[in-house]
Amino acid sequence: MNVLLIGSGGREHALAWKLAQSARLGKLYAAPGNPGIARHAELVAMDVTDHEAVIGFCRRQAIGLVVVGPEAPLVAGLADDLRAAGIPVFGPDKAAAQLEGSKGFTKDLCTRARIPTAGYVRADGTDDALARLAPFGLPVVIKADGLAAGKGVVIATTRDEAEGAIRAADGPLVIEEFLAGEEASLFALSDGRTVVPFGSAQDHKRVGDGDTGPNTGGMGAYSPARVLTPALESQAMREIVEPTVRAMAEAGTPFVGVLYAGLMLTPAGPKLIEYNARFGDPEAQVLMPRLESDLLELMLASAESRLDQVEAPRFSHRVALTVVMAANGYPGTPETGGTIDGIEAAEAAGAIVFQAGTSDRDGRLVASGGRVLAVTAEGPTVRWAQKAAYTAIERIDFPSGFCRHDIGWREVARETQ
Ligand code: ATP
Repeated sequence: MNVLLIGSGGREHALAWKLAQSARLGKLYAAPGNPGIARHAELVAMDVTDHEAVIGFCRRQAIGLVVVGPEAPLVAGLADDLRAAGIPVFGPDKAAAQLEGSKGFTKDLCTRARIPTAGYVRADGTDDALARLAPFGLPVVIKADGLAAGKGVVIATTRDEAEGAIRAADGPLVIEEFLAGEEASLFALSDGRTVVPFGSAQDHKRVGDGDTGPNTGGMGAYSPARVLTPALESQAMREIVEPTVRAMAEAGTPFVGVLYAGLMLTPAGPKLIEYNARFGDPEAQVLMPRLESDLLELMLASAESRLDQVEAPRFSHRVALTVVMAANGYPGTPETGGTIDGIEAAEAAGAIVFQAGTSDRDGRLVASGGRVLAVTAEGPTVRWAQKAAYTAIERIDFPSGFCRHDIGWREVARETQ
């Protein structure tokens, strides 16, 4: 079967790497892809915001499944248009992608389906939000109600700070009770009716060692998240993920694709912080190496509403850890054009190097974005995988790049206790 993968990041490289291992795969295409993805797929220069062009390509190349990596095309309704054209797609329709695109939508769904989450109110604008702030204790969480790539959230520790955040915001807001605990990500595959767990991970959002500095798209991750014990995972599936999939189906907007639940593990049990309607980046770079099942088979079963008829996803018991190498300046303006060497040497050391913001300039690999590489290694423990990842990174020559030096620190500390 021919497959079209949409996207160009490290997440899509990890998906391409895994899809390429499927016995069912005919030809893999990626639009727009990147030089790393090109090792597994034929790159297609196509404007993916032009849905008719994507449909035309799928028809010409007899595409049997489209896999949508990032959120933007989902929110723009690419999956709707492909489905309407009779092309199977792994990824939710626009209406179901609201689980990620609108915090207010998700909070209202939690209320309807009695899903554990932080108490909240929705506010329409500055005056409304200021008026609704009073009942909340401190800290209080102020969120912009839309796709903000992690930049639309303020955890205010004083009233002044909260009011400042409200005044600085533009458009609808959600005000939330602060939840204390440790965060973990739970992934699940859904075909609209049936939903199955698909691994867990923890990531590092801050740019600097010790979780300091500004937020980024993610500087590293590891899987599984051991804090999410099998008992807590079952509880989260039962109380959060399954009722969500049921409620979406009942609303006539079934969710097809990967549901990525950001959880806070509170003393009262797991609570939902947010949903994403796609794989995490860099979480995919640690989930895919651990996945033992055929990814294409599972994605196709999700797209064709027959997840209940295939074997449940299997993951290895090993730990995978990934360290992101970013271009200097990230998460501000990254320095592009810097040369990258040593990927083969790093892979010879046992790691997998997933590429994100890279491009080919006259036969040289150069940085072309903020997050450039994700170096993944595996081992029996986080400490082991961490050591293997950093050993591989030493072999990479990327003078205009940097990485964090402590990915996995929380779990390493627990392992050494
Ligand atoms: P991203 O998609 O990048 O994670 P986002 O804009 O969708 O970000 P959220 O995920 O809702 O925003 O929040 C970002 C972070 O803020 C969370 O990962 C968590 O650390 C913190 N946070 C959000 N809501 C709460 C809450 N109610 N209590 C405590 N911390 C919170």
